[in-house]
Amino acid sequence: MSLTHVKAFGTEAKDKDLQEMTIMRREVQPNDVEIDILYCGVCHSDLHTARNDWGGSVYPAVPGHEIIGKITKVGPEVTKFKVGDLAGVGCMVDSCRECESCKKDLEQYCMNGFTGTYNSPDRYMANQRTYGGYSQTVVVDEDFVLKIPENLDLAATAPLLCAGITTYSPLRHWNVTEGSKVAVVGLGGLGHMAVKLAKGMGAEVTLFSRSPDKIQDAMDLGADSVVISTYENEMNAVKGKFDLIIDTVPYDHDINPYIATLGISGTLVLVGYLGKMEDMLNTVPMILGRKSVAGSVIGGIKETQEMLDFCGEKGITSEIEIIKMQDINEAYGRMLKSDVKYRFVIDMKSLA
Ligand code: NAP
Ligand code: ZN
Ligand code: ZN
Repeated sequence: MSLTHVKAFGTEAKDKDLQEMTIMRREVQPNDVEIDILYCGVCHSDLHTARNDWGGSVYPAVPGHEIIGKITKVGPEVTKFKVGDLAGVGCMVDSCRECESCKKDLEQYCMNGFTGTYNSPDRYMANQRTYGGYSQTVVVDEDFVLKIPENLDLAATAPLLCAGITTYSPLRHWNVTEGSKVAVVGLGGLGHMAVKLAKGMGAEVTLFSRSPDKIQDAMDLGADSVVISTYENEMNAVKGKFDLIIDTVPYDHDINPYIATLGISGTLVLVGYLGKMEDMLNTVPMILGRKSVAGSVIGGIKETQEMLDFCGEKGITSEIEIIKMQDINEAYGRMLKSDVKYRFVIDMKSLA
């Protein structure tokens, strides 16, 4: 298979800054499209991967899985796209397509492992890892490429490809509808999308945050109320209230205080922290209140398209700060301090 050289930004080791590098992309195959990347969102998972927070990162690593661009080439068997179309790529670029999950449009739960947009074993090139959207172009099978609503701001749409679908999917799975009482923990990239999407579905939305300076923003984004999670009196005031809590916090934290705020049969869905939790889970409120603690990862391709169309109809996009590719290390530093309102998006022209 012939390869093309593409300019990218990535890291050589977990303790190194990101820097410019050259990666190889495969030539367009019969079902592939080539996308000229215009914008790429910056997810906290990019940082976790660059710094090997989860273990398993392989270097060089090129993050980026909130990709928006224009199609520049199509393979002869491509039917859904033509040159010049807008296109999106999220967290997956392939899966086995044969297992029970894949057959049910749940490629994110592929039993043979989906191919992540970055840092996954490549299904096309032996012994290679995938490289993400901090790059000029990407080549993806059309089945894993999304159509972008024409009415939305392109840069602000990029974060829907991960932050959007990751919060949309549990909201839908747990049947959020008009009047549902939904809470969101953490107002970052995922959290602010959760607030907007839950509101778009008609829910009454509460934000849990550690940051009093985010109260006004949360209300402007559509939250009906904000609870500062470090204030005991505010936590007590919402005991037993919520049908669903979406917890987006990226690091270990005690979830027992949030479980206390679930109503009977309520569910707390973890989407942020990946790993063992130090604080013991108290089963008493769960047993006596039929409460659940659950997890969820991104969403399938079909559901991602549904989410994009929903956002197109409702005019929902992300709140963004546009940066240059060269500013990425500083952006990671600010993300660690929760100093981003509310998603960095890289203008890929800066890499040209
Ligand atoms: P982010 O923009 O950095 O936002 C995280 C928010 O969590 C912060 O704004 C802050 O909100 C709160 N927070 C941060 N550190 C905290 C701590 N130590 N204790 C309590 N709260 C804290 O991150 P993101 O991009 O939204 O990603 C969130 C997490 O989801 C990451 O771990 C990411 O890897 C993961 N993720 C999962 C999936 C999935 O499919 N499950 C998909 C994408 C990302 P306040 O200031 O309001 O407290
Ligand atoms: Zn992500
Ligand atoms: Zn599969």
